[in-house]
Amino acid sequence: MKTRSLLTLVLAFAAAAAAGAADKIVAGPKGGRLLATEPHAAEFFVTAERKAEITFYDAAGQPVARGAQAVTVTAEPAGGRARVELVPTPHGFVSVAPLPEGGPYRVVVQVRATPEARLQNFRVDLNTEVCGGCDRAEYACTCEH
Ligand SMILES: [Zn+2]
Repeated sequence: MKTRSLLTLVLAFAAAAAAGAADKIVAGPKGGRLLATEPHAAEFFVTAERKAEITFYDAAGQPVARGAQAVTVTAEPAGGRARVELVPTPHGFVSVAPLPEGGPYRVVVQVRATPEARLQNFRVDLNTEVCGGCDRAEYACTCEH
């Protein structure tokens, strides 16, 4: 009985911590959203051409070589989910084509540090409208809502 209540407490704490981390949006250097990937933080950024761009940074905030890191981006617009084709860049990846029109819709970003590493999942609500509060795109808005 004692063991079970302790486990419940631990699970509740873990869930709260995860929810808190998901709500907090960290600003990326390009104006995108910084994802808490390991070992290098990755910025999800939508370019002026509406292409999805992923850039990796070191602890000092400098772009870092992509290395063995792999990224999958899936767009989930109303018309159905679609994998976004990416090409490598020196410090990450960029989509071949613009992201699907419309929205807001969910974009799932999955990052692997190495082929053997665990999958790191992030969900971004893709809304590219500019927020009046912070002048950032809504998907990367850092306002306390
Ligand atoms: Zn804002």
